[in-house]
Amino acid sequence: MHSQVVIIGAGPAGCSTSLFLSKHKIPHLILEQSIFPRDKICGDALSGKVVEVLKKYDENLIHQMTHDPTHFLGSWGVKFVAPNGKALDIPFKQNTGQEPHAPGFICRRMHFDHFMVQQLDTRYAQLITGAEVISMGKADNINSVTYTNQGVVQTTSFDIIVGCDGDRSIVEKTFVNRSLEPDHYCAGIRAYYKNVTELHPQNFIELHFLDELLPGYLWIFPLGDGTCNVGAGMLSSSVSKNKVNLREQMLKAIAENPNLKKRFANAQLEGKINGWGLPLGSKKRSISGHHYILTGDAASLIDPFTGEGIGNALYSGFFAAQAIQKAIEHKNFSAPFLALHYDNPVYERLWSELKLSHSLQKLSKYNRLFNFVVNRAHKSTTLRNTISSMFEDMDLRAQFRNPVFWWKMMIGK
Ligand SMILES: Cc1cc2nc3c(=O)[nH]c(=O)nc-3n(C[C@H](O)[C@H](O)[C@H](O)COP(=O)(O)OP(=O)(O)OC[C@H]3O[C@@H](n4cnc5c(N)ncnc54)[C@H](O)[C@@H]3O)c2cc1C
Repeated sequence: MHSQVVIIGAGPAGCSTSLFLSKHKIPHLILEQSIFPRDKICGDALSGKVVEVLKKYDENLIHQMTHDPTHFLGSWGVKFVAPNGKALDIPFKQNTGQEPHAPGFICRRMHFDHFMVQQLDTRYAQLITGAEVISMGKADNINSVTYTNQGVVQTTSFDIIVGCDGDRSIVEKTFVNRSLEPDHYCAGIRAYYKNVTELHPQNFIELHFLDELLPGYLWIFPLGDGTCNVGAGMLSSSVSKNKVNLREQMLKAIAENPNLKKRFANAQLEGKINGWGLPLGSKKRSISGHHYILTGDAASLIDPFTGEGIGNALYSGFFAAQAIQKAIEHKNFSAPFLALHYDNPVYERLWSELKLSHSLQKLSKYNRLFNFVVNRAHKSTTLRNTISSMFEDMDLRAQFRNPVFWWKMMIGK
């Protein structure tokens, strides 16, 4: 068998690559080891960036999401809780009343990923589920991928392969094989709880920056079915250095933290607490090469401060499809061509955000600084509005790196 383009993985990065390839009318094969619907350990928060990319594909998807609040709960803002326990509610947008839909959503990955797979355009996309890729190789100048399909081993040759297979990607291992860097990798755990109380009426997501989890946080994200996604994440180097057991710390916080224990007094854990890694985009890397492209978690593109990876996975899929269209047109699948047409646009769009988030991640380990900012923002409407506008305005967000911004805050301006 031969398929000019082969995508490995049908998570957000794989689906996005496929959808935009279909827009370019490029036929492709997708190999996915799971059968949908399937779970993925995640906080389930779909940020404004997810909405942005989905709109590029089809505005109608957002209408579908808005009309299904049980699965896609619209979220209008974020609650930051500083280590001193003080909370700050920040809307994602200033004029929320005039918006046709929520800026972000929260949706179980069990549902979101299935929803995305259902959008694939079968005129161009051939999806094989239950197909686990086991190796890739080259013989007589032909690239090929080998996978098991219902116990049968099959091989397909390709011109370009797209690694959308997440953290622990076999495509990344085959072509690059970078070792895990604990300063650029985060450990995360996730649980579902029923009956958590005092949730925000506009479904704000909650980030609790607890002393014992810095740099990192405990989150509570409300879902449309009345449950909450509750989890914790922390930089891997700090987990090892401080010998942190994330699971124990999360359960301890839920049972003892004065802000949390009353809200979890009647809460019940649904299922198990599960863990998975977050490869962070705090370092620029080469994300393509001779006949291959890496996207999403396989390319380590998760935001180092917020832990958001779905939006960047979708964006990288969008740019991968553009690069593949050019590669086919020019019959050029070489490393320099793909670096120019894939790595460059990806980092042009994402790097300034990733770099800034890395600075914020480093600042966030100073608990006193965190307390100070939240205390100041409590007193100043202007500062609260500035932080709110930072969700949409990158130049404004960059003020966090400007000493004048900090000086003004110190003197209360
Ligand atoms: C605890 C935790 C909380 C998070 N919270 C959030 C959040 O709230 N919001 C957010 O935006 N991001 C969050 N993230 C990050 C987000 O989950 C990822 O960035 C996102 O899933 C990346 O999408 P992807 O398509 O690159 O990879 P994945 O979603 O991991 O998809 C990879 C796909 O490839 C398939 N695959 C893997 N290997 C093979 C193989 N050998 N053969 C065939 N198929 C294969 C898998 O089955 C899977 O379907 C969180 C991550 C963690 C761990």
